[in-house]
Amino acid sequence: MKKLLFSILAVVLVIGLAACGSSESGGDAQGESSLPSQLIIATGGTSGVYYPLGGGIAQIITNNTNVSATAQTTGGSVENMRLLGSKEVELAFVQNDIAYYAANDQLMFEGTAVTNLQGMATLYNETVQIVLPENSDITSVADLEGRRVSVGAPGSGVEANARQVLEVFGLTFDDLNSQHLAFGDSVSSIQDGALDAAFVTAGAPTAAVTELSATRGVKLLSLEADKIAELIEKYPFYVEDTIPADTYPGVAETTTVAVKAMLAVSSDLPEDFVYEATKALFDNKDQLVAINQRAASIAPENALEGLSIDLHPGALKFFQEEGLK
Ligand code: GLU
Repeated sequence: MKKLLFSILAVVLVIGLAACGSSESGGDAQGESSLPSQLIIATGGTSGVYYPLGGGIAQIITNNTNVSATAQTTGGSVENMRLLGSKEVELAFVQNDIAYYAANDQLMFEGTAVTNLQGMATLYNETVQIVLPENSDITSVADLEGRRVSVGAPGSGVEANARQVLEVFGLTFDDLNSQHLAFGDSVSSIQDGALDAAFVTAGAPTAAVTELSATRGVKLLSLEADKIAELIEKYPFYVEDTIPADTYPGVAETTTVAVKAMLAVSSDLPEDFVYEATKALFDNKDQLVAINQRAASIAPENALEGLSIDLHPGALKFFQEEGLK
């Protein structure tokens, strides 16, 4: 009987302590900030790089902080900024160009700037890949006119990149038979012969493209040097990028452009939590490299490169401790 009473007491105590703990983590020591017990990380489609890496980051946060996190599939960068702005998610993967537009009331965010958007870290290069079936007769973006082309999922960053690349060739979506497909659907449509080309902005190798190289065979389209220069001049977040030969089996070296993938957070998140999450991300990077080789470039010394929005104070504290400016 005594034993039973003790057990009940112990259980009550544990529950009580847990309640205290959670109310503490939910408290707002910094006025506005609040920490929900369950965080959501907005990622991208299941065939991209954001989603699997987001799953890894969710695991790292769950294991190393006092909140749990899950990865949510989305259309990509543009949708992620809207989800962060409407506070449906607390963390988001985003291309650095799209984050800049969201924070600064530009292009697709004109009149709908995201005011609670802050940066945590930049992660890796995302390459603008124009994917063709191996036997394609297309040799330049100019040849895409009138063809069946996937310009990326609705709400993706891909769509914005496709629009801008086409623009320097004097083309718009209306000049193509444009389709708005996620990577997985783009690739299966090329596989079935229902699509002539697909824009994919993602860390290379991108699993969906690797799959296509194994079945139908792929080719990647290079951009001409003068077009790259024009694009960078007009939209300075692009950098020239080379996809080495055999990144996809049998595919030659390809010259194109890239932007940066970054992790963005809501400014509502408390400083302590973002500090811990940032630290945990870098301390456990190996878990991410095991998911995708692209994560190898995730490092504090690279994480401010291409950062296009203000850092969250918790991330700032981490980088200052690392001696970075
Ligand atoms: N960068 C892509 C986008 O924002 C998503 C890439 C990925 O899912 O890995 O649309």
